[in-house]
Amino acid sequence: MGSQEVSSTVDWQGKHVTVAGLGVSGIPAARALHERGALVTVVNDGDDERARAQAAELEALGITVRLGDGATLPPSTELVVTAPGWQPDKPLFLAAAEAGVPVWGDVELAWRLRGTGGREPAPWLAVTGTNGKTTTVRMLASILEAAGLRTAAVGNIGVSLLDAVLGETEYDVLAVELSSYQLHWAPSLRAHSAAVLNLAPDHLDWHGSMAAYAADKGRVYEGNKVACVYNAADPATEDLVREADVEEGCRAIGFTLGAPGPSQLGVVDGILVDRAFVANRQKQAQELAEVTDVNPPAPHNIANALAAAALARAFGVAPAAVRDGLRAFRPDAHRIEHVADIDEVRYVDDSKATNTHATEASLAAYESIVWIAGGLAKGATFDELVTGAAKRLRGVVLIGADRALIREALTRHAPEVPVVDLDRTDTGAMSEAVARAAELARPGDTVLLAPACASMDMFTNYNKRGEAFADAVRARADESA
Ligand code: ADP
Repeated sequence: MGSQEVSSTVDWQGKHVTVAGLGVSGIPAARALHERGALVTVVNDGDDERARAQAAELEALGITVRLGDGATLPPSTELVVTAPGWQPDKPLFLAAAEAGVPVWGDVELAWRLRGTGGREPAPWLAVTGTNGKTTTVRMLASILEAAGLRTAAVGNIGVSLLDAVLGETEYDVLAVELSSYQLHWAPSLRAHSAAVLNLAPDHLDWHGSMAAYAADKGRVYEGNKVACVYNAADPATEDLVREADVEEGCRAIGFTLGAPGPSQLGVVDGILVDRAFVANRQKQAQELAEVTDVNPPAPHNIANALAAAALARAFGVAPAAVRDGLRAFRPDAHRIEHVADIDEVRYVDDSKATNTHATEASLAAYESIVWIAGGLAKGATFDELVTGAAKRLRGVVLIGADRALIREALTRHAPEVPVVDLDRTDTGAMSEAVARAAELARPGDTVLLAPACASMDMFTNYNKRGEAFADAVRARADESA
């Protein structure tokens, strides 16, 4: 059974499928395949109490579960369906490759099972990139809704893809967020149109190299029908379009924060304009929305809005719906979230800025900043980030395990900027960070939590870190009220 032959039309009856990984994607995959008559074996590395409880539920349905050994390929396997996070060099996959057994991820499975309920499958508008995926996909869903289309933001966020393609709800089109891991395991995915927002080094330990990471991101363009949307300011994204094998007539559409050329969307005098999906792109430009319709109107977020608009326009959405959808859009928590103004200082929570590329974008959004940063650096270096932001830094408060790395970069490139180095990781640490930032700030400044690091040294996750910041800010606001 080669990967080409296994499709939605294939009879799953009696097929031996190995599902790699109990978890958010593995359990629904195992169930869906079992319901279709496949002989499913789930293999899982872990063998803890939670895994045993999950295994018991699946076994009660007649699914075989093998705990504590995710490495060995069951001998009769005809197809492996893997959780996207499993690293490609695992022995299980090497064994599958040797045996000529195809490996699908959760996205590939959803793609192959779409339309099996007898309904016309909804086309996918796909978004990937190092940063901005969730925001862009949510903006896109908001625009599609404003156009009266039945849609949902799915994939790496919200509703799982499998639920979206197999569930009761019918959709006209899906706004799909895809991670590089998911794309790696999705060889036959063919989106209606897709966007790569940007490319910066991330997850290189998983992919093995920047080239392999870029190649996996680039898969999102394979077989696109109408538009491959790229970032004109990030030539690596345009290179991926050039390398992709697309359907006849599919167009390359750029987005830019400057004035758009033909076949681009961009910004002119505070207006988002479309010079791609118009009758005469040499002479005509269609007004879509105002920059102030984008929430928040930070430069990187305007780029996200343009990418979302490009995908929606590729799907035939009218300009007014782009504007209405952008106006209706509310960003998710901890993404450049305005918490409060105290004594003419603005406090902004961008706890989701967990890498330097994201933090670079949020530092670029404000004129004069007291920057709260630090945490787990995940192997990153900070010289470029600090050099780019130096002239906008009023001061810096450093927290977390790897703060010395940022401090050293500041010493090298911004020695005049005052730095507070907080040597504590207890629950009160964030309150003190906010208090020290407030001391450094002057009226008109922004105190920005944009850590450029992961949070797990001090917090459960970036949400908790953002909440700790917001709580501390609100407590100050109450005091000063
Ligand atoms: P993702 O889903 O790719 O992680 P999010 O939309 O959740 O992206 O945004 C994550 C963080 O990345 C935000 O908090 C913001 O700091 C930053 N960010 C968002 N959009 C962009 C962009 N287009 N370019 C660079 N950084 C961005």
